[in-house]
Amino acid sequence: MTNLTDLTLAEARDGLAKKDFSARELTQAHIDAMEKARDLNAYVLETPDQALAMAEASDARIAKGEAGPLEGLPIGVKDLFCTKGVRTTACSKILDGFVPAYESTITANLWQAGAVMLGKINCDEFAMGSSNETSAYGPVVSPWRREGSDAKLVPGGSSGGSAAAVAARIALAATATDTGGSIRQPAAFTGTVGIKPTYGRCSRWGTVAFASSLDQAGPIAKTVRDAAMMLAAMAGPDAKDATCVDMPVPDYEAAVDRGVKGLRIGIPKEYRMPGMPAEIEGLWEKGRDWLRAAGAEIVEISLPHTRYALPAYYIVAPAEASSNLARYDGVRYGLRVPGRDIVDMYEKTRAEGFGREVKRRIMIGTYVLSAGYYDAYYLRAQKIRTLIKRDFEEAYASGIDAILTPATPSSAFGIGEKGSADPVEMYLNDVFTVTVNMAGLPGIAVPAGLDAQGLPLGLQLIGRAFDEETLFAAGRVIEEAAGRIAPPPAWWA
Ligand code: GLN
Repeated sequence: MTNLTDLTLAEARDGLAKKDFSARELTQAHIDAMEKARDLNAYVLETPDQALAMAEASDARIAKGEAGPLEGLPIGVKDLFCTKGVRTTACSKILDGFVPAYESTITANLWQAGAVMLGKINCDEFAMGSSNETSAYGPVVSPWRREGSDAKLVPGGSSGGSAAAVAARIALAATATDTGGSIRQPAAFTGTVGIKPTYGRCSRWGTVAFASSLDQAGPIAKTVRDAAMMLAAMAGPDAKDATCVDMPVPDYEAAVDRGVKGLRIGIPKEYRMPGMPAEIEGLWEKGRDWLRAAGAEIVEISLPHTRYALPAYYIVAPAEASSNLARYDGVRYGLRVPGRDIVDMYEKTRAEGFGREVKRRIMIGTYVLSAGYYDAYYLRAQKIRTLIKRDFEEAYASGIDAILTPATPSSAFGIGEKGSADPVEMYLNDVFTVTVNMAGLPGIAVPAGLDAQGLPLGLQLIGRAFDEETLFAAGRVIEEAAGRIAPPPAWWA
């Protein structure tokens, strides 16, 4: 029998249905692999006892013929999702020891579908970052290495632990969140598939907030089909989140094999960035050829406000973050550092509890929202956001079904290599992904090849609002044409 941790989510589901193995065996195989992979630092909390209890309950339901769509399938949960009775910290010291009294809607939906929780997964602090280096638990080490080198690379971020866990086969799939690229960029860096659904497709209830108008949950998985299975379980209406839409969730898995015949795929000329490596340009070209060969029409389009997206994002996101993070005051959750009086206690708690990047965002956000600067920065960024959204609306109104772009401007970089002198160097990772959050649209990253150093590269497809199905269909065409990337050898085990 093949190694159970090498299976895709769909293969594991089918194997359970055929009784080739039990949910308990499948879960135990992952727990054993997790123990051997601790050097990757992908999990910040392993919950093996809970996992085995959930797996046994799944086996009982399978025996009774009551299996849910993800019955018995072990997954990891980004530490941004509140899990009842299980420590949740957003990988920040300020939430040290916080044990939620409630379950996020996303995880509740997954458990309802029968999934098994392996543990809580490392991420950038409050999901702010592109390399998983801002985590209070330390960086995640990517399972990928450059050919002939054992230098430690980042898995991307902020959902770096989710991407690393899936690539390292210590979770069949994982939850993740994306505010500016945090699902798609780590997926691209690790040869995994990640989809950020349309804003409002997934409930934000019980997910630690970063920038509420941009945050969306989504999955990171081994294949396009697995991502479709995960999103189908995660998505859906929720009365507890007013921005979550009351729309039925389509059969995403059925959309995977739909093909792209007759679709019009837009190629935005503004995504051809100066200084972009020739390999990325070449991959993008290949993506066009693959989609064309599968029957799509390739159309050059223009999204003229693209270049303003990153600067506008770095005003809107910190502004919302500064407001959201005001609640961490040492009174209600997590860390409290005693002080002379209450103000001193607030100040000491926040000074000690937040890391450098989070403090930087709070300061920028407070500044752009302050009287006298609000109009010049925040209001202007909001207007730019409207223009970015309009660019996409015009493209879709002209008959474009989806847009193809590179997922990231480079492959993975080394731990400690970027952003220490200039944070903008790190922010530039998201040039191709932030536009999608600003417009509230769905975007998927699909592995499309390896670069000259042997590291994965991804392509991104951007869809119409609430048309994740086309992304699964087109994503599958790319996956099939590129050939599934062989996972990295388990040097850590
Ligand atoms: N890298 C971006 C940031 O640091 C996006 C993070 C995210 O999507 N959560 O804000």
